[in-house]
Amino acid sequence: MIPLAKPDISAKEIKGVVDVLESGILSLGQKLKEFEQQFSAVIGTSFAVGVNSGTSGLHLCIKALGIKDGDEVITTPFSFVASANCILYERATPVFVDVEEDTFNINPDLIEKAITPRTKAILIVHVFGQSCDMDKIVEIARKHNLKIIEDACEALFGSYRGRNIGTFGDAAVFAFYPNKQITTGEGGMIVTDNKQIADYCRSAANQGRSSNLQWLTHDIIGYNYRMDEMSSALGLAQLSRIDSISGKRRMIAEHYIRELSSIPGLILPKVYPESQSGWFVFAVRTRAAIRDNVIRKLQEKGIQSKAYFYPCIHLQPAYIQLFGYQEGMFPVAEKLSKETMVLPFYTALEEKDILAVKQALTESMAELQG
Ligand SMILES: *Cc1c(COP(=O)(O)O)cnc(C)c1O
Repeated sequence: MIPLAKPDISAKEIKGVVDVLESGILSLGQKLKEFEQQFSAVIGTSFAVGVNSGTSGLHLCIKALGIKDGDEVITTPFSFVASANCILYERATPVFVDVEEDTFNINPDLIEKAITPRTKAILIVHVFGQSCDMDKIVEIARKHNLKIIEDACEALFGSYRGRNIGTFGDAAVFAFYPNKQITTGEGGMIVTDNKQIADYCRSAANQGRSSNLQWLTHDIIGYNYRMDEMSSALGLAQLSRIDSISGKRRMIAEHYIRELSSIPGLILPKVYPESQSGWFVFAVRTRAAIRDNVIRKLQEKGIQSKAYFYPCIHLQPAYIQLFGYQEGMFPVAEKLSKETMVLPFYTALEEKDILAVKQALTESMAELQG
């Protein structure tokens, strides 16, 4: 069976975690600080705050920007549910804006129509690692005095016009679940150039404690969103290998594109010269009528694949129940969610695996399209 994802764990990661275990310092130690310092250097931000998941990081960003009951946050319905849930945690309202078919990302030309006097921020998601259209989004945010949160949980190694994803918003969040580009088991990282946001997040992740007596000593209610030392050591070892990991992922994506481009009826991810994808997954599209059957046929041939993201966030049962959303409200996102599937994608994927995926897809598509 060729799996969908597999973390790239070398002897270095194992030694890093074992060293922490042997040191006896399992939380609130030096490894987290080192991981934060090195991560902010890699992205190019002044600050980085490690947390125990991408979702926790997004939640803290919402809080750090003062988003609260009655506020609205513009975001995308085509994403993993955490990017909208974090808005609901603070009783603010996610206002969905449909996406662009080619990039899977929020359509900047539809954002202004969704702005109301209650809009506080735009929470963008760089879906599958491909950057949103940041020139337009930054301009809209400036014009309307809105904050930007980048959900960069899928976008490590991605860039837009030569600038790293994660450096455009007031804050950005990366995630390290085992299927992401690098992993800490569970974990996430907030990056920002804003010291107040960084200080708030660092304190709130650690029960509202202050590291500096002048900073909100008593009046913030914090959480336990801390990243432990084993996770931090794992992240540090992964970070030391990012050139190899990102290079392999990019090569595999290019290899897939070369091999799969001749399969009739299969739409491959678009590659944009001005913005390098972070290659979180390798997502392809088929006609909606056959997508689930293609997935089933691949499974029978020993190849894992998955509908991604299905359903859209607004059509998740919890959202239908809360807001009464219906099919047809965000037609492009809904179409993509019925057509898109992700293929096995990880650094240990070999040429023979790619060829096996190609053969299985070619046969399955031919059978289903008649
Ligand atoms: C992975 C992911 C997250 C965060 O996930 P965690 O499991 O909480 O680390 C958030 N948003 C998107 C779009 C993601 O893909």
